[in-house]
Formats: sequence, C-alpha cells, structure tokens
Amino acid sequence: MEEIIAEIKRLKKQTNTLILAHYYMSPEIQVLEKEGGIADHLGDSLALSVAASRSEATNIIFCGVRFMAETAKILNPHSRVFIPDMEAGCSLAESITAADVIQLRKQHPGAPVIAYINTYAETKAECDIICTSRNALAIAASFKEDTLIFVPDVFMGNNLRKSIQEATGKKLILWDGRCEVHEQFRSAEMSLMQAAYPEAELLMHWEVPDATVDSAFKQQKGVLGSTSDIISYVGKSNSKQFILASECDLGAVLKSTYRDREFITPCIRCPHMKRITLQNTLEVLRKLEKGSPISEEIDLDHDLMDRARIPLERMLTFS
Ligand code: SF4
Repeated sequence: MEEIIAEIKRLKKQTNTLILAHYYMSPEIQVLEKEGGIADHLGDSLALSVAASRSEATNIIFCGVRFMAETAKILNPHSRVFIPDMEAGCSLAESITAADVIQLRKQHPGAPVIAYINTYAETKAECDIICTSRNALAIAASFKEDTLIFVPDVFMGNNLRKSIQEATGKKLILWDGRCEVHEQFRSAEMSLMQAAYPEAELLMHWEVPDATVDSAFKQQKGVLGSTSDIISYVGKSNSKQFILASECDLGAVLKSTYRDREFITPCIRCPHMKRITLQNTLEVLRKLEKGSPISEEIDLDHDLMDRARIPLERMLTFS
C-alpha cells in the first residue's frame, strides 16, 4: 500500500491533480496527504462541492460516487474531472429522472422543487435548488410557498417534514427514493443494540427510516442529522459511547478523530463507494501521465451543465 500511495502522490504533483475523498471511502483513502495519505480534502458532499468549485487544479479525481463527480464538474467546468470507477452509482440518484421532476411539477403547479444533491445532472437541471443533508432544513425554511416538493429520499423527507412543519407549517410532497445503506437500519435491530448499550448516545443520519428514528429517540438521546452534524456532535458531547446509524466507514473517521470514545455500528457499507480503491485511483493518474484516453472522465453537455449549475449555486449561497 505504501508504494501505491507514494506513486499516487508523485503522479498527483506531476499532473496537477486534486483528490477529493468522501467520508464513506475506505479508511486508506480517507487519509489526507499531509497526514501520509492521498486526499487533499476529506468531507461530505457539501464541503467537497465547495472545494471543487474553488480548485484551480488542472485535474480533479473524485473518490466518491458518480453524482458527486458530476457536481464537481458542473461547479468547476474548467478542470477535467475523473471518477476511478464509472460504475460507482447511488440508489437515490438512480431513483429519479428529469422526466419524473417535470411530471411532479405538473401535478403540483407552483410548488418549488428541492433536490437532494444525490441526483444526476439531468435531474438537477429541472429543480429550483439543490440541498445536502447539512443545509436541507435551512433551504426548505427559506421558501415562502406553503407546499414544497422534496426529492428523492422519502425517509429524509419524512424526517425533515416533522422539523419543517413544526418550524414553518409547510407541507412537503415527497418521492419514494431510498438510500440502500441507510434504509437497512430497522427498529428491531436498533432496539436490540440500544438495549445492549443503554448509556450510549445515538448518531443517526437523516436517510435512516423515520419509523426507526422515532422509536430509537424515545429510548436514548443523540443527534439526527448530516454526516458533518454527526462528527461535530461527538465533539460537543460528554458521552464516551455512541451507536452509529450511518455508513460503516464514517466510523473510521469518528474513531480517528475521537480516539477516547467508543463507536458501536452494525457496519453496513455502501457498495458503490467501495468500488473506489487506491489501485483504480492510481490507474487514472497513470493514464493522465501517459496522455492515454481515459474512460473514467466526466463528460457532460455544456448546456446541461449551465442549467444544473443554477440550482447548485443557489445552494452554495446557504453554505
Ligand atoms: S450511502 Fe446511500 S446515498 Fe450514499 S452513495 Fe451509497 S447508496 Fe447513495
């Protein structure tokens, strides 16, 4: 692994390439270059989108899934953007198309469409604003309309709906998309885990089913929020033990950030995120060095990027 990491670092420098790594990457990809790894930035979708938009690198390799690499390309069309495996998809992004959004607008005229960042460029281009799990609540609350369309995550929508209705009285129209990782956190298994660790606090992602969230928080306290909310909550809490209901390798980030705390997790991994490896990241860099054709490059139509950039830039005003 050390040899691969050294070669990636050499080629990054030679080809002026920035590496962005999502928190759900395997631990060996999460490590920042300044700490001996390969990543220039480690973060959630929002932080990495901002990093992509500000980058002056000739090339960006996105160690994440395809909708994230598309977002980086849209926000920084002057850089070449690559994903080490084009098959790194997302069950949420695949659950909705641009035609579905057009149909929703016809069914609910006048209702603004808020799309979670886990959507492909064609879908984003049909929406009013994009959000991440970190800013969804603030964005939904900012609209003056009483009815909003939120796509595509039904569980996140249901979890948001309660907070939004309490805060603003607004109605949310939802789509039936699901994250194949977070939907696996079910009440029965969570209850067993909570019974085994009664002193632990809960760290639950917005994408966990609302029924699980409701029953879990009746028994124990903690945080329901984005990946970044979860990381910062642990830093503010006095608890020594936490139950993590999110992607398994977020546990690695938590363990390396808070070495004095204990994290209990069923360890459900996103199969799409795990398609990205040090080896396929290195392969992209080798092709860049040789000037060979690279099938892992994100190539989007300019008109599509211009249309998808509008709702993305609206989101960034909330960052
Ligand atoms: S964890 Fe869920 S939302 Fe994230 S990329 Fe995987 S399938 Fe998509």
